Amino acid sequence: MMAAIQAAKNGHQVILLEKNEKLGKKLFITGKGRCNITNACDTEELFPQVVSNPKFLYSAFYGFTNFDVIDFFEKEGLKTKIERGNRVFPLSDKSSDVIFTLQRKLNELGVEIRYHAQVTDIKLEEGKWKAVVVNDKEIFKGDSLIIATGGLSYPITGSTGDGFRFAQKMGHKITKLSPSLVPFNISQDYVKELQGLSLKNVEVAITADGREIYREFGEMLFTHFGVSGPVVLSGSCYAAPYVGKKKLGLTIDLKPALSFEQLDARILREFDEYINKQFKNSLERLLPRKLISVIITLSGIDPDKKVNLITKEERQNLSLAMKAMKLNIESLREYKEAIITQGGISVKEVNPSTMESKRIKNVYFVGEALDLDAVTGGYNLQIAWSTGYLAGNAQ
Ligand SMILES: Cc1cc2nc3c(=O)[nH]c(=O)nc-3n(C[C@H](O)[C@H](O)[C@H](O)COP(=O)(O)OP(=O)(O)OC[C@H]3O[C@@H](n4cnc5c(N)ncnc54)[C@H](O)[C@@H]3O)c2cc1C
Repeated sequence: MMAAIQAAKNGHQVILLEKNEKLGKKLFITGKGRCNITNACDTEELFPQVVSNPKFLYSAFYGFTNFDVIDFFEKEGLKTKIERGNRVFPLSDKSSDVIFTLQRKLNELGVEIRYHAQVTDIKLEEGKWKAVVVNDKEIFKGDSLIIATGGLSYPITGSTGDGFRFAQKMGHKITKLSPSLVPFNISQDYVKELQGLSLKNVEVAITADGREIYREFGEMLFTHFGVSGPVVLSGSCYAAPYVGKKKLGLTIDLKPALSFEQLDARILREFDEYINKQFKNSLERLLPRKLISVIITLSGIDPDKKVNLITKEERQNLSLAMKAMKLNIESLREYKEAIITQGGISVKEVNPSTMESKRIKNVYFVGEALDLDAVTGGYNLQIAWSTGYLAGNAQ
């Protein structure tokens, strides 16, 4: 949509082919229906949030910055607001207003929108792009083609990876694809007992064959299959490349604000209060109720043991269970639950200033179809806006 708007602004006749019955089905579900449009951090700070190929985005992010995105929407009449973590949302909290704003601009510029128009093939002749085939029958020709088909995640919204097939046909390499910003399946059965438990202020570390690849402080959630929540989803971007290759582990520090010594002192204070009680009845002020029996099992201490009989070594095991609760990441959840797709059309064969294919002239790739992905916070849409803007302006 952004690419079509820019191309039309440059005076081109533009046809937008959308296979769904409406525009922006994925955009509609972004930010839990509120659409986190971008992030109002310093533009330079966008780059560290990009997990794959941040350097490729230099011209894109500076050509159409996060502040340009905000200006664009504000000028088009969409009021925005900035929330925690510099996340930018429409003031109305409605993603539908973002779609409406884009659609109105497309109409105003005379972009012809064809719905139920699934591009099924790309026609090439002597290494040149000739036409696209829609719904296996209709042929569309033009001077340029911008492919903005998205990735594979939430296929129900229309993003079914068609662009990868087209790119491959044009000789482009597709890097390894994986669901990302996605929950984890955990092997330990006891996570089921913890289903629904949400933990705030925990520190989570992910390891690949024992080597730490990610550490973050924040919120997480236990589910019937494993773990989810902000710190887990962000961690999945870093874990995805290792899936199937290395053993992935997740360590949760339930008490990140306390050192081992401080936690031991805290436990001792609790034990003093509960001196004649059984161990299993002594932890309610230290842990959420759902976690107590799991931590007791992990500590290896007899739950019926009297608190005053617990040894120093046992106490240390208890601290360890709380500060380093270890889980095995069995796998990532599927594309249908993944916020983004990691991997895509290799950026090595795409011009970073225009998004034009280096293989086929006048063909452009933008957005999530490219091998680009970022953590949550509005950065993935910024990638889509910026790359779409460049491609539209290259026309
Ligand atoms: C649940 C969820 C929440 C998210 N929240 C946020 C957020 O708040 N902030 C953020 O920055 N990012 C968010 N994202 C990520 C963001 O939505 C995507 O990165 C972004 O939408 C990618 O834009 P795109 O234009 O490249 O692809 P898409 O938005 O996937 O759009 C691709 C379009 O192409 C159409 N299409 C595909 N194939 C064909 C074909 N063959 N012919 C015709 N049309 C075709 C599809 O129907 C679709 O409309 C979220 C993603 C999900 C799934």
